Amino acid sequence: MDIIKKLQDKLYVGELLTKEEILPLAEAPLEPLCQAADEIRKHFCKDAFDLCTIVNGKCGKCTEDCKYCAQSAHYTTACGESYPLLSTEKIVEQAKHNASQGVLRYSIVTSGRRLSEEEVEQVCESIRAVRREVGIEVCVSFGLLAEADFRKIKEAGASRVHCNLESSERFFPQVCTTHTYADKIKTLQAAKKAGLEVCSGGIMGLGETMEDRIDMVFTARDLGVKSIPVNVLNPIPGTPYENNRILTNEETRRIVAIFRFIIPDASIRLAGGRGLLGDKGEACFTSGANAAISGDMLTTAGITVETDLALLQKLGYTVVKR
Ligand code: SF4
Repeated sequence: MDIIKKLQDKLYVGELLTKEEILPLAEAPLEPLCQAADEIRKHFCKDAFDLCTIVNGKCGKCTEDCKYCAQSAHYTTACGESYPLLSTEKIVEQAKHNASQGVLRYSIVTSGRRLSEEEVEQVCESIRAVRREVGIEVCVSFGLLAEADFRKIKEAGASRVHCNLESSERFFPQVCTTHTYADKIKTLQAAKKAGLEVCSGGIMGLGETMEDRIDMVFTARDLGVKSIPVNVLNPIPGTPYENNRILTNEETRRIVAIFRFIIPDASIRLAGGRGLLGDKGEACFTSGANAAISGDMLTTAGITVETDLALLQKLGYTVVKR
């Protein structure tokens, strides 16, 4: 029996795969791999699609040195924009706009190592207002917060915390030196302890290997993560990664397909850089991916919700809260 089929059958009887079983998929023939990943997605997740949008709730002047990021104060990029935490009024207005387009999940994302205590209080007001006035699910990405902060955020009505692992523990020190992989794991664990769902993936195309990507998803699986954002690096001029090669559609399809084999019931979510793929991610949505961030990204233009909804309908998906 060929390896793809053998692994697929193991998943169907409820077993999880080991790293040693997953590694050969890096060299497996692409089309059968992607087809099997699509079948696994249908088996575990049906045609449910998790579509979310993000708002850049606080922009720029970041103390951290993440080498891919336009908002880091360590690099000079064309993204000169910076502003403090958005007002509740603006956050609610954006949430209303997204909800009116059919989006069910909305994330507030802020730049910086973490929000201050005062900012957490302020943003909890905004979360309460969004839940009360719009009803859309609220996710947050506020950096390296502690359990006590997350408890306040949960009480305010948010349901999910985003904090990307970015890559493997081995590769991460080459991506960022101002905080550690352990800091990220601690943040995800604190969010879980506070009773929140966690969302954590990474950026592909930083110079990491396929093994780094696989290790990242095994770490996420161990942490109970069921939502994995897959960003394709958009090399920003002025950042250390400005000359990195952009991943091809085939490479991205293989990545999402392999991730599906590692966490068969997860939302594998195409995120930043989707617009760099010629088909805007369409082939990935039949290769294991079943979630996406729609609309604009933090500092780059994205794909409109309208365009995404038309594509998802064509592919037979239903947008639901997963
Ligand atoms: S990714 Fe976040 S923490 Fe890192 S430099 Fe950008 S805004 Fe700062």
